[in-house]
Amino acid sequence: MRAVVTGAAGFIGSHLCEHLLAHGDEVVGVDALTTFYDPARKERNLAPLLGRDGFALHRGDLLRTPLRPLFAAADVVYHLAGQPGVRGSWGDEFAVYLRRNVLVTQHVLEAARDTRLPRLVFASSSSVYGDAETYPTPETLRPRPVSPYGVTKLAAEQLCETYRAVFGVPAVSLRLFSVYGPRQRPDMAFSRLITAARAGRPFPLYGDGGQSRDFTYVGDVVAAMRAAARSGWTGVANLGGGSEVTLRQIIALLGELTAPVRVVPGPARPGDARRTAADITLARQAFGYRPVTDIRTGLAAMVRAEAPLDHGARPAVGHPHGYWAPR
Ligand code: NAD
Repeated sequence: MRAVVTGAAGFIGSHLCEHLLAHGDEVVGVDALTTFYDPARKERNLAPLLGRDGFALHRGDLLRTPLRPLFAAADVVYHLAGQPGVRGSWGDEFAVYLRRNVLVTQHVLEAARDTRLPRLVFASSSSVYGDAETYPTPETLRPRPVSPYGVTKLAAEQLCETYRAVFGVPAVSLRLFSVYGPRQRPDMAFSRLITAARAGRPFPLYGDGGQSRDFTYVGDVVAAMRAAARSGWTGVANLGGGSEVTLRQIIALLGELTAPVRVVPGPARPGDARRTAADITLARQAFGYRPVTDIRTGLAAMVRAEAPLDHGARPAVGHPHGYWAPR
């Protein structure tokens, strides 16, 4: 399949590109390398992809990129580009979330409609649920986000549903639950915990550590994205990891895998849900989703991979033959 991956330089996007290439798909990545976190990390995420047969990169902002020529040649678009992170989404920063999560998605959907794109897979978020009333949470529960970030992801997901209902854009929105694994974003808990453990630095714990998440290994997520793209199914589905773990349990486990983490307690942050847990029945039925990586295995893989990186970042460049290599 010919795939476009937006957000290709990011944590999940770079794993998805690798997964697609490994399965013989051709991939055009699109990414602006925003400065939400160090773009040098994104250059490093891209480095193993650049120069590989079947991969091309368009470096640019999706709102300024002519998408129709890209989408016209694609079998599927995986739309992962966005502004993540719940805590930073309050105040003036909301404008950034609105632009990168809502406006960009509308731009993608317009191009998808005009080019009669065969498949669109959108990375939505468990943040749409907020403090849910039911656990494990099914997709039928009314979303009630507790962060502006969650509001923008819900708006983007609703846009996908609207374009699906009105124009027949064959969209799948996957509600991702706390994804972890090698190359995780540096603002996320596991990444910060490993860095703190390695450096012997204290880890600021927001809340009492009893907050729990349905952590999902990135390898399971990208496999599910491809499976969803290849299925004929459209709609909204949860992608959880299948087990609910508290932050305190993670800290203890990391202590076994690396070094003990010194925790400095602090107040809970606004926007953080107390608990997330996915009912994954729908994803299993719709496209055979079955997460296979348990938390100990996944965390150990992450610890191994988070060794200091010293290979230089290669410049991000376009493909010499245009976006698509000849068939
Ligand atoms: P990430 O920040 O590592 O990746 C996002 C990428 O999108 C970045 O490389 C960024 O440069 C790019 N980008 C942002 N705005 C852009 C624009 N206007 N034009 C072009 N590129 C742009 O984040 P991630 O953790 O890999 O998350 C990927 C997607 O999955 C996001 O949409 C996020 O909301 C969603 N998600 C992630 C998680 C998680 O646990 N990581 C959970 C739920 C949902």
